[in-house]
Parts: sequence; structure tokens; C-alpha cells
Amino acid sequence: MQTTKTQTALFYPEVAVFEPEAFNYELGRRLHAEFQSRGVSLQIAPSHNRLEVAGTDHCQRFHHAKQMVAVGVKHTLTPQPCRPSADYRLVLNTSCPAKCHYCYLAASLGERTYVRLYVNVDEILQSAVKLIKKRGHEITTFEASSSSDPVAIEHLTGSLRQAIEFFGRQLYGRLRVVTKSDHVDSLLDAVHAGHTRFRFSINAEAIIDQYEEATASLEGRLNAAGRVHRAGYPLGFIIAPLILYEGWRRGYEALLDKLADSLPPAATHDLTFELIMHRFTQRSRRLILERFPGTTLAMDTQDRIHKGFGKYVYKPQKAQELEDVLRSYITERFPYAQVEYFT
Ligand code: SF4
Repeated sequence: MQTTKTQTALFYPEVAVFEPEAFNYELGRRLHAEFQSRGVSLQIAPSHNRLEVAGTDHCQRFHHAKQMVAVGVKHTLTPQPCRPSADYRLVLNTSCPAKCHYCYLAASLGERTYVRLYVNVDEILQSAVKLIKKRGHEITTFEASSSSDPVAIEHLTGSLRQAIEFFGRQLYGRLRVVTKSDHVDSLLDAVHAGHTRFRFSINAEAIIDQYEEATASLEGRLNAAGRVHRAGYPLGFIIAPLILYEGWRRGYEALLDKLADSLPPAATHDLTFELIMHRFTQRSRRLILERFPGTTLAMDTQDRIHKGFGKYVYKPQKAQELEDVLRSYITERFPYAQVEYFT
């Protein structure tokens, strides 16, 4: 099995909290045995939704929560829409071990940033099948990363591999995965039938260095992308969040140059890009400043417009400039690639 020296350490929690119902599932029992053998502190709680996290302030609780996992049963099984990245969400887990200052889950998770691992994977996949069947002969896409980085916790559960192989058997279902992890090796020999598109979330190195903690390096992600491509998966990149920092043009140009240098030519024929500019809400800004008091992440509402649903994004002129520049950098280097959206 090919690995790289840039790989990040695999995540293991300090504390694992189990719902009693989780023991009714093989995955729940397996996780319990695994954590026990690793000396993880084990607890039982009635629900994975509201766990007590130690700490006297939000910052402490955030960092403690990122060392915890909750193992439980997902009861809300009807997949929710997930535009623009897919038709629906496929939620196999919630949250992830990384600490990105700008995390798009900040507001929705609030204090509940601990990783939640759902053990009823078969039931979650069956709920997807119902939707695929309902839509008849139309292709239905599911996003596995709408509430998590499933690759960063795959070594614990194996549920992403299960989902990939499940979608490999679906005539009209397709899976989409996004990651900032380079731990892809356990997925390379999965029987995917080309039905899962693997996208790596990347950014200018200045953004990765300043605002992403416990993620793989850019080099690690690009290396993993090459392995995923060689395993026959359709490949894509999400460049997010796009940030207008001092020197952003040079930074994003260097990123695209690096990508062009690292990808095998054959990988560029069926390549997708998704471009997502930075956004925040008043609530996420408050949480981010509490979690990362020294962050330099710019979140001044004066520089933004209110887009609806409480979200602030760059003003139209700046957003257009960002979009035009990124599209031109991509087209110059990857003429056959498809930019699926800019948002
Ligand atoms: Fe949030 Fe994704 Fe970063 Fe995890 S990897 S902290 S889900 S932005």
C-alpha cells in the first residue's frame, strides 16, 4: 500500500461516549472494543445530541470537544437537500477532528463540535435508495461531506467505504466526497464503479498555514489526489473558502500552478472545480473569535453584503473579480475542466 511521508496522524479521541442503543449495531460494539483496547475513556449517555463537555469557557470546551467522539444512532433519516454541491446530503457522521478557523459548520454545530459517529449505516443508505427510486431514471447525487470530513474518521468506522461500494451498485445514485485529509489508502481498492467523485478541499498555502489546524498539508492532499485518480475515481477540487487577503492573486495562482504540476495529465480530462467564497454569520463570527481569540480571519461586515439566511459574503464587485480571476487561472491550466459553480 502506497503512503506518503506527509500524512497526518490518524485521529483517536481521548473520550468516547456511547448511546446504549449503539450496542444494538455491530459497528457500535466494534467501536467500543476498539476504543477500549486503545485506553480511550469510555462513557454512556442517553443521547449523542447533548453531551456535557468539560471546560470553563467556550474556547476550552471547543478544544475538549474536538478530542471526543459520540457513538449513536441517527434517527432523522430523510436526506435533506444539499445545493449546489449535490441533490441531497448523506450524513454518516457529524463534525471532524480538524480545527479550521472558518469552519462552515461553526454556526450549525454551536457547542456540539465533538465528532458524532452513526452506527446505523445500513438504514442511512436505505433512506438514500428510497430517494433514488423515487426519482426514477434521473441520476441522484448525494454529498457525504455536508456535515463532516468523512475521510478523516474513516479509519474508525469504515462507513465511507461501505457507502462508496453501495453507490457503486446503484445505477442512478452517485456519491460525492470532500476532504482535507490524506488518509485515502483504505478506500483505493473499494469497488466504486466510478460512481463516487472525490474532491479535495484546497486553498492558497497562506490560508492553509494560518487558518487550518490538524488537516493534511497541501502537498499531502495533492499526493492523495493522485492516488485517488490512479484508483479510477472521478476527481475534483473545491477551492474554499476563497479569501481576499493581501497577495491573494499570487497565492491562488501559485496554488493552481502547484496543482497543474502535481496531477498526472490523464487526471485533467474529467476534472471538476467548485469555488466557494468566504462567508460568515454573526453567530459564527462570535464563536470563531471565542475559539481562536488570536485569529486574523477578516470578518468585518462593512466589507461584505448580507446574502440572506444571516450570511455575509464579499460585495458584488469584489466577488466578480474573485470569480473572474479564479476561472481564468483554472482555464489557462486545465482547459478541459468544468467549474461547477462559484458561490
Ligand atoms: Fe470544518 Fe471541514 Fe475544517 Fe473539519 S475540515 S473543521 S468540517 S472546515
